[in-house]
Amino acid sequence: MSEFAFELELCAHLESRREEVLARQLGASVADPGGRILDVVAVEPGPGFDDRAAITSETIPDAAIESAVGTGRARYWKEAFADDCHPDHARRATERACEIGFFERELRNGREYVRQVARYPEWADRIVGIENKPDLGRPGDLESQLRTDVSLALVDEVVLATESYVTRAHLNRIPEEVGVWRVHRDDRRDEETRTLEIDVVREPTELPVDEPGVEPLEFRPGRTEIAVVSADAKARSRRRLAERAYGKGWRTYEMPGCGACSPTDADDFGATLPFCTWNGRLVDAASECGPSCPGYEPADASTADLEGERDRRTPWKADPDGRRRRQSGLDRFS
Ligand code: SF4
Repeated sequence: MSEFAFELELCAHLESRREEVLARQLGASVADPGGRILDVVAVEPGPGFDDRAAITSETIPDAAIESAVGTGRARYWKEAFADDCHPDHARRATERACEIGFFERELRNGREYVRQVARYPEWADRIVGIENKPDLGRPGDLESQLRTDVSLALVDEVVLATESYVTRAHLNRIPEEVGVWRVHRDDRRDEETRTLEIDVVREPTELPVDEPGVEPLEFRPGRTEIAVVSADAKARSRRRLAERAYGKGWRTYEMPGCGACSPTDADDFGATLPFCTWNGRLVDAASECGPSCPGYEPADASTADLEGERDRRTPWKADPDGRRRRQSGLDRFS
């Protein structure tokens, strides 16, 4: 099975059984943004989750959360950001926070003042990073990726998910802190429903997320460049990771504009997924589909409501009420 198909089926399976906020393909480096991408991120909601879900369905910009904008007195936006925050970045964060309903603004003497619509709740509890490697016979950079995750310890647990039979030799090659799941189909069930089973080959070990971490930056023969990352920088990156997971989710795939695409039934598969009848498997429309494919038949892409599906099947809210104060209450400050 391709890594793409494996990832989608695994996410659908996890979503139907667990309460975590799931997302795919998120950056998990601190010193070298984009240096490490986690295949799947699972964020366990903490007590502040409902308050967070009530604010907005989108990712809240970290600069807006970090700023001195509070819920009480409105502040002139330019004075609410730290000196090391570039004014363009501060402006973009302010605009975005207003657009998604995290900030509300008012004009006073031609100046823009902002305040938070609701206090930002620390909602993310534990974070699990899942690395998908359906075929351990083609490991690629697996070993160094997992070593990076363990030594940086940005997430609480790291798990390797595979379809391969896991041998002692495989286990010896990966850090002992990494948990291992063997994912396979349950043959006793109806093939059409594609029910997955997960055998836990090894439980993950809790990583020291509250301590400084070491992020490998570049591997050279006999030498590895590293950066030491503070516990505070990790805490900010964890919040960013959780926010991006909340806003993005895992249904970020496209449906092919092709007559051979027959989306799966969400009740059978746990989600509406891009299934190609010509190939007999799930396909990644962005990289596989188009006129150059021999099975391509021009057609309108399915208009499956993936956001609505996420809203129905998970605690994420597509259209929260928000906490916008009545504008009339603010007019008196103008
Ligand atoms: S373009 Fe090819 S791979 Fe994509 S859905 Fe059509 S037949 Fe399948």
